[in-house]
Amino acid sequence: MWKFFFTALLTITIAIQVEAQPARPKLVVGLMIDQMRWDYLYRFADRYGDDGFKRLLNEGFSCENALLNYIPTVTAIGHASVYTGSVPAIHGIAGNDWVIQATGQPMYCTQDDNVRGVGTLEREGQQSPRNLLASTITDQLKLATNFQAKVIGISMKDRGGILPAGHFADAAYWFEGKSGNWISSTFYMEKLPGWVETFNKQKLADNYLKQDWNTLYPIDTYINSTADDTPYEGKWPGEETPTFPRKTSELMKDAGYELIKTTPQGNTLTLDFAKEAIKQEQLGNNSTGTTDFLCVSLSSTDYIGHRYSLSAIEMEDTYLRLDQDIADFLAYLDKHIGKGNYTFFLTADHAASYNPMYYTDQQGNGGYLFARQIQRNLNNELEKKFGSDKIVRSLMNYQVHLNYGLIDSLQLSLKEIKKTVINSLNKEDGITYVIDMEGAQHMFIPAPLREKVINGYNRKHSGAIQIIADPQWYAGTPRSPGTTHGVWSPYDSHIPLVFMGWGIQRGVSNKEVHVVDIAPTLASLLHIMEPNGNIGKPIVEVLGQ
Ligand SMILES: [Zn+2]
Repeated sequence: MWKFFFTALLTITIAIQVEAQPARPKLVVGLMIDQMRWDYLYRFADRYGDDGFKRLLNEGFSCENALLNYIPTVTAIGHASVYTGSVPAIHGIAGNDWVIQATGQPMYCTQDDNVRGVGTLEREGQQSPRNLLASTITDQLKLATNFQAKVIGISMKDRGGILPAGHFADAAYWFEGKSGNWISSTFYMEKLPGWVETFNKQKLADNYLKQDWNTLYPIDTYINSTADDTPYEGKWPGEETPTFPRKTSELMKDAGYELIKTTPQGNTLTLDFAKEAIKQEQLGNNSTGTTDFLCVSLSSTDYIGHRYSLSAIEMEDTYLRLDQDIADFLAYLDKHIGKGNYTFFLTADHAASYNPMYYTDQQGNGGYLFARQIQRNLNNELEKKFGSDKIVRSLMNYQVHLNYGLIDSLQLSLKEIKKTVINSLNKEDGITYVIDMEGAQHMFIPAPLREKVINGYNRKHSGAIQIIADPQWYAGTPRSPGTTHGVWSPYDSHIPLVFMGWGIQRGVSNKEVHVVDIAPTLASLLHIMEPNGNIGKPIVEVLGQ
């Protein structure tokens, strides 16, 4: 009896000791690949090496069925949702851009007119996470460690660095196309650290662009892609055909450093900068012994996808090079933080669609919703009934944004206007559903779709009427090249999600998980509170529970 009592007491004591000092990794690294579809882990795998994507899959845990559970599926929302465990309805990031419904004022996701740029005098510097209403997992780490954890966000896109790093970040840096410099804002600091200025002075973008963009392997070996010259690919001004070799050394004379965003070297340069941040800021070597967090987002994959679409050699080559860059980055982490001392995860903010022209040329169904024309049609019809052709402000994010000020001043019936809009849109080709958001819960639509619509609807920022496009239809001008994303379909919402390193099991699962499950999984791993708008659940298989 006494022996039992003593053993029980000892167990409790040990349990309490474990709780008092939770073991944690030295560093968490979140790597987001902008516009990466889940299937890219496999589509180009014949020429991936062992140390990049394949290392993540072999040594880590892959959630093969990770979905975005909201619309619109765009960059700002993806980054916000990964890090907050939440959705636009709650975290407030309702698009890359949105309209403040009460005033009609347009808003960019990280726009903050109350801060100044640091390292730039341009407006591109006036950015902060102010519009993000919920806390991030990085914020929670700061709170849990009495702000001793270091948190840094890095991305060529402002929103890709700022939103993940959260409100308490030590710094977020993004790339200014005009100067080729990494910049920040007074939200974080008054002046760039010396190491950032030194890094900028190297003008690495110059070196990369002067090398031109040639394929990594002989061009006729790119069997996973279309021919090099197709109508589905966009061109740079000055280019006669969208083909290799891409003379970036020439094109940069007009396009400037902005060009590097649309080359694979944009990813390389971002990781160069991330490695320098690890070294100079001593990330993963915190003097208090606590965990640091580095959020990196690679944007070039998205710029390249938008310009050349999914089926181009440009895309295959980008992923073959990215595979090498990831291998190199992991090797750097092994060397400087130590293998097994850091937790790494790779995911994406959204995926992407095939080009509709490419798709229909192969006899598939698809098309373009020409938003400007649809808006004109709507306003013409509204004018006939209500006497004004300015009632619909825009069709941004597949939502109808109404001019409430005008509707009020003309004393029009909102209900009648919505009815007219919905009837008119229902006649357009390529539209599956038109949903009055006030009645979304009661629409006869498949439940997964309804959930995405409701999660994505922010009462103050989203348009009152949601358009659901038919599969493989998207907003664009007829026959435009490249690709885009933003809708509910799997091609836009099925993202890769792979964890590796400290605290992570090896394995694979095809269970459906959602983007909002990433932050609570990290919260469980780190023994810290989940973010304050979190609606996700920890993915227990990843943690071996
Ligand atoms: Zn995009």
